[in-house]
Amino acid sequence: MASAETLARMKAAVGPKGYLDDAADMAPYLVERRDLYKGRAAAVLKPASTAEVAALMRIAHETGTPVVPQGGNTGLVGGQIPFETGDEVILSLQRMNRILALDPANNTLTVEAGVTLAAAQAAAEDADRLFPLSLASEGSCQIGGNLATNAGGTAVLHYGNARDLVLGLEVVLADGRIWESLKGLRKDNTGYDLKQVFLGSEGTLGIITGAVLKLFPRPRAMATGFVAVPDVEAAVKLLRLADAATGGLVTSFELIPRIGIDFVVKHLPGASNPLKAPSPWYVLIELSTGDDSGALALSFEALLGDAMEKGLVTDAALASSQAQRAAFWRMRESMSDVQKLEGGSIKHDVSVPVSAVAEFIARATRAVEAALPGIRPVPFGHVGDGNIHFNLSQPVGADTAAYLARWDEMSAIVHGIVRELGGSISAEHGIGRMKRDEIAATKSTVEMELMRTLKRALDPKGILNPGKVVSAG
Ligand code: ZN
Repeated sequence: MASAETLARMKAAVGPKGYLDDAADMAPYLVERRDLYKGRAAAVLKPASTAEVAALMRIAHETGTPVVPQGGNTGLVGGQIPFETGDEVILSLQRMNRILALDPANNTLTVEAGVTLAAAQAAAEDADRLFPLSLASEGSCQIGGNLATNAGGTAVLHYGNARDLVLGLEVVLADGRIWESLKGLRKDNTGYDLKQVFLGSEGTLGIITGAVLKLFPRPRAMATGFVAVPDVEAAVKLLRLADAATGGLVTSFELIPRIGIDFVVKHLPGASNPLKAPSPWYVLIELSTGDDSGALALSFEALLGDAMEKGLVTDAALASSQAQRAAFWRMRESMSDVQKLEGGSIKHDVSVPVSAVAEFIARATRAVEAALPGIRPVPFGHVGDGNIHFNLSQPVGADTAAYLARWDEMSAIVHGIVRELGGSISAEHGIGRMKRDEIAATKSTVEMELMRTLKRALDPKGILNPGKVVSAG
């Protein structure tokens, strides 16, 4: 437990605006939005500068006080939530929300960690550039959290994961030292790429306080289609056909099952299926380019014609306006929310090679249906990245608590198939608390030892987000 004296020193380091210690004020920082993880904390510290973060970490290191870094608190695996002991302090980056620089010739944007993803996107757009990271929670998630968790989202197919969008970082280490490397270099071959150690480390190796992000040309034209496909294999073939036919202009390629669209139509006000005839599967496909001559729409139509001839697409609706494009995306983005209204949902965020997606979905569906007749699989997501959110809605009329009590049993089935296919049990959501023990049981001894070696070297006292990602020892 942080002593009263330690807490007083930490509060003094950030000033009266820099902390919360009243239970009601702290409450929103102590629970994640799905209510899966709740914790307690001695205080919520809100430093306004890198120097203040460093001062806090010097005190934490000296006194052995555990620190939980937190961004927009949108994580889905409990990484940003303290444990129930109340020993930890939360270090929120939300006041460090300044855009520091934009270099249009270098195509870079330099930000503090607490800038929201939406604000970073807007800053890029103001300069006629694109920052392509895009997630359902972009209005409230923060860049520091996006980078600490190596966030994925709907544009990974074309632009890569969060870790691919970073040129430079500033990190406060466990002992309060500052590693300042806010460089905008696309080539820097001077030894270990240290930033990659911190990207995706979920606040267990250091606290990201700033970053230099890569910008891209803003697309001038987009073509968005909602298409019906007969099966998942056809969806994957369509992806490769679209890739080849457009020379790599496919920026999103999202799979949605029929049951997902049924849920959307039932629960999302104003939503309707743009395609008349029912289909077992749908794909939301988006192409983008800097060429606004109208050629994109023509090549999209040609592509879909070709795909229909080949039997890969049975029906298609093309967005003819920005409003229609938004309506297509709203169906995809609401996929998790509508499942909430169908009772308990057991969720998986897994990846397999793209070539194995169809086999994975078929095998995992059969296996969970055999284990629990009536279970309703809703596999959707980033098929172009081999990343499927293999969510399982409870049988109609089942008792929700009894259903959710079978979470580990269902996960063991699904993750077993994932491993057999050479996949990953966490494609884009990270490890946090949820999967800590499971990765230890599934990664090789050598891999776990390398991870623990890094943890011990960078955080010898084990004060940075302890109990997340890797266990001590
Ligand atoms: Zn996703």
